[in-house]
Amino acid sequence: MRMVKGIEVKSVLNKHKKRDDWFLDDYSVNPYSGCSFNCIYCYIRGSKYGENLAKTISAKINAPELLEKQLGRRARRREYGVILLSSSTEAYLPVEEKLRLTRSLLEIILKYHFPLHVLTKSKLVLRDLDLLKEIDKNAILPECLKKKLNGGVVISFSISTLNEKLAKILEPGAPKPKERLEMMQKCKEEGFLTGVCFIPVLPFLSDSEEELDEMIRTAKDYGADFCLVGALTLFGNKEADCKTLYYKFLEKYYPELIPKYKSLFGLSPQPSKGYQKELEKRAKRLCEKYGVKNRIV
Ligand code: SF4
Repeated sequence: MRMVKGIEVKSVLNKHKKRDDWFLDDYSVNPYSGCSFNCIYCYIRGSKYGENLAKTISAKINAPELLEKQLGRRARRREYGVILLSSSTEAYLPVEEKLRLTRSLLEIILKYHFPLHVLTKSKLVLRDLDLLKEIDKNAILPECLKKKLNGGVVISFSISTLNEKLAKILEPGAPKPKERLEMMQKCKEEGFLTGVCFIPVLPFLSDSEEELDEMIRTAKDYGADFCLVGALTLFGNKEADCKTLYYKFLEKYYPELIPKYKSLFGLSPQPSKGYQKELEKRAKRLCEKYGVKNRIV
């Protein structure tokens, strides 16, 4: 296993100005910096990490000590809110198996009764289902979520395509999409609220009516309570930015799609508003067709 650098940070609990409508988080916690799953479309890419996110992983070794202080303070003020684990790394990187940093953070989250949304692509999340169950039972939900959620834990698995070959190129370090679906099924069987974040879906590759129909139907078959569907975002023109790497991927495998992407994105990091609206409508319709929610609550 590659050596992972230990770093000390000044803060580990980020408070958002407003709860995220999709992920429900009021806070986020990132135990690591960088990510060995190394997805080409990952928005955290850029000069800070370099072209290979796997080479620059750091573990925030003082995260437990900091979280104890920061969450303790929030709990004393009764500022309960959903914590997203994680927003800009993977909390269950292979290195977590040995370091158990995420696990120590879960113990603190349990101690202070905060609810949690785990967003992952990793099998290792199954190791912590015991602690997650305790959090699910004991978390104190913010007032406005009390009637909408039955427990304090949501577990989501992110998938951008069910095509194994495409996933291997785009998410070279991550488990196969089918394995992620199997993990979701396990979480469902264990009683968690769980679903798939099809974020990002890939224009002209995994966003068509047929593709999305199959994705949502399959998610339902594996027990998804919800499916979130979101568009691709492409940032930056530097060597290690996701836009640069994504266009390199298109050049190599789908050169015929480049003009279509250029016309869809123009100079913006987001695809056109019309495309986004159409995608949202399609996702809503297909979720209704298969009886899954298109939001967590
Ligand atoms: S798993 Fe998430 S954080 Fe890691 S590279 Fe992929 S998109 Fe980025």
